[in-house]
Amino acid sequence: MAPVDHEKEHPVAAYGYAARDTSGHLSPFKFSRRATGERDVTFKITYCGICHSDLHLMKNDWGNSSYPVIPGHELVGIVTEVGSKVTKYKVGDRVGVGCLVQSCRSCANCEDNLENYCPRKIFTYGSNNLDGTITYGGYSNFMVCDEHFIVRIPINLPLDGAAPLLCAGITVYSPLKYYGLDKPGMHVGVVGLGGLGHMAVKFAKAMGLKVTVISTSPNKKVEAIERLGADAFLVSHDTEQMRAAKGTMDGIIDTVSAAHAVIPLLALVKTNGKVVLVGLPEKPLELPAFPVIMGRKLVGGSCIGGIKETQEMFDFAAKHNITANVEVIPIDYVNTAMERLLKSDVKYRFVIDIANTLKP
Ligand code: NAP
Ligand code: ZN
Ligand code: ZN
Repeated sequence: MAPVDHEKEHPVAAYGYAARDTSGHLSPFKFSRRATGERDVTFKITYCGICHSDLHLMKNDWGNSSYPVIPGHELVGIVTEVGSKVTKYKVGDRVGVGCLVQSCRSCANCEDNLENYCPRKIFTYGSNNLDGTITYGGYSNFMVCDEHFIVRIPINLPLDGAAPLLCAGITVYSPLKYYGLDKPGMHVGVVGLGGLGHMAVKFAKAMGLKVTVISTSPNKKVEAIERLGADAFLVSHDTEQMRAAKGTMDGIIDTVSAAHAVIPLLALVKTNGKVVLVGLPEKPLELPAFPVIMGRKLVGGSCIGGIKETQEMFDFAAKHNITANVEVIPIDYVNTAMERLLKSDVKYRFVIDIANTLKP
C-alpha cells in the first residue's frame, strides 16, 4: 500500500503537532481535514488540555496506537463555519469536543445517550473515521465534527479552564452520578491527585460530599485541603494513616495512571462500598476475591460519559463555577510538559495555548 499523503488526504489544509513513533516525541506536522459537511461544525481551536491518555497513546502504552498520533481530546474554540443542516450552533459560538467524534447512533447504547459505550464509537484521535482515514486530535489549528458530538461551553467559564472538563471532568462526574456516589453527606475517596483527581474533588465537594484524597506523597496535601476544598488527605504509603481510615468511605474514584495496589483501597470502603476504576494503567491490577466478597464490595469501571451527560456536567460546572486548575503552556513546551506529567509534576492540568502559539 502506498504511504498516506497526510496533506492531501482531505481537501482542507491543517497543521498541528504529532508523535511519529513510540518515543512519543511531538513535532510540527502538516495534515488535512475534511470540508465542513452538512451536519458538521468547524471551529478554530483556542486551547487543548493534555490528558494522561494522550501520553499513553503517544507511547503506545496500550499497544493499539497507529502513527502519526495527533493527540488532544479536550479541545475548545470558536465556531467558524456550520453545515446547512446544523441547528444547534452558529458562527462565533464557544464550543468544545471531548473524546468522541462519532458513534453508530442506532445501537442500544446510542439510543440511551451512552455513545461512550457504543461498539462503533470513533475517538477524537487515533481511531478510524467512517471513510477509513485516521482521526486527528486537538493539538492542531482547527476541528471539524458532527454537531451531535459538539458541546457548548457555558459563557461564565473561561475557555482554558473549561477545556479539561471535556475529558477529565466528565470522566469523574459520570461515575459519581452512575454509582450513586453523589448524595450529600457521603464520604468519597479520590485516589491520585492529577487532572482527573482534582476534578473529582471539585465535583464531589459541589455535590455536598466529604472528600478524602489518597496520594503517593504529602506534597499536595496543603493545596488539596486549602485550595481544592478536600476534607482529608491520606498518603497511600503510610500504613498507619491507611489503617486508621479503614471502612470509612462509601466509595472511591481511582484515577491512577500506573500499576498500583487496589487491596488497600478496598479496605478503605465500608461494607457495600464501591471502588470505581477510571485510571488506565497499561498493566493489569491485582484483584483478590476475598476482600471483595467479605465486605460485599463492588469494583466497577467507567469510561468518559455520553454527550448529553457531558453537556449536563458543563451546566453543573457553570452553576458551581467549576473549572480545572490549569498551567497554560505554549505548544513548543509540549514535550517538556509530557515529561513533567509522567512525574505527576503539574497542578493539575496542562492546557496548550493553541491560538497564540501554534503556527503553520
Ligand atoms: P495524571 O494527571 O497524570 O494523574 C494521575 C495521578 O495518579 C498522578 O497525579 C498521581 O497522583 C497518581 N499516580 C501516578 N503514578 C502513580 C503510581 N505509580 N502509583 C500511585 N499513584 C500514581 O493523569 P490523568 O490525566 O488524571 O489520567 C489518569 C488516568 O486516567 C490515566 O491512566 C488516563 O489514561 C486515564 N483516563 C481514563 C479515562 C476514562 O474514561 N476512564 C478518561 C481519561 C483518562 P498523586 O501525585 O496524588 O499520587
Ligand atoms: Zn482524556
Ligand atoms: Zn452505537
